[in-house]
Amino acid sequence: MSTADSTAQTGSLVIAVDGTSGSGKSSTSRGVADRLGLRYLDTGAMFRAMTWWLLREGIDVGDTAAVAAAAGRPVIESGTDPLAPTITVDGIDVSVEIRGDDVNAAVSPVSAVPEVRARLLDLQREAIGSGGIVVEGRDIGSVVWPQAEVKVYLSADPDARAQRRTAEQGGTDVASTQQSLLERDRIDSGRATAPLTMAEGAVHVDSTHLSLAEVIDRIVELAQERRA
Ligand code: C5P
Repeated sequence: MSTADSTAQTGSLVIAVDGTSGSGKSSTSRGVADRLGLRYLDTGAMFRAMTWWLLREGIDVGDTAAVAAAAGRPVIESGTDPLAPTITVDGIDVSVEIRGDDVNAAVSPVSAVPEVRARLLDLQREAIGSGGIVVEGRDIGSVVWPQAEVKVYLSADPDARAQRRTAEQGGTDVASTQQSLLERDRIDSGRATAPLTMAEGAVHVDSTHLSLAEVIDRIVELAQERRA
């Protein structure tokens, strides 16, 4: 099937991919979007961009009131091409900077602040618009777009996640990567506002023993079933 054919069939489709840190959401979501001719939104990158900006402004990310007061200020824009997604803050491309250790350590506490979530929720819903998109995050199927036609909860064993993430980053310290992933999971699952959870109606895909291509196939199949 050509991309044009698949786009015609999947025009307003929204596929929500939620899950733990390092479970393969980004590669999976981009692959699914590419296969189905859909756009792609990385909501984690938006929380990372907000965190990068707060750190650059010298705002104490542990000070909830200061974070809440500043949350409306940065202009965050996401490009939704699955083959070349982009993220800018006040016009600056921050796609590399948002993956740094300083952002990794601060992003979950920042993401727990309700004013940050409310601000980014508006941007996320605006980007989803009339659909035709794969959206990855932690609360997409539960809060951002509960009406999504396809909802996936992606998980993998912590060992597998840490090994994949370390390899992706060209590092060697699997133990410290695992610690950082688990700490983010702990904060993301325990927060009061929009915690990481398996949304009602979500299909659980455990990618521990699956290749990326197998996970993508599974979600493409789900999308085709829903559209049939
Ligand atoms: O997906 P990624 O690991 O880049 O997300 C970084 C962080 O952003 C997560 O650990 C979480 O704290 C936050 N996040 C969130 N809600 C989303 C997406 C990400 O709270 N929808």
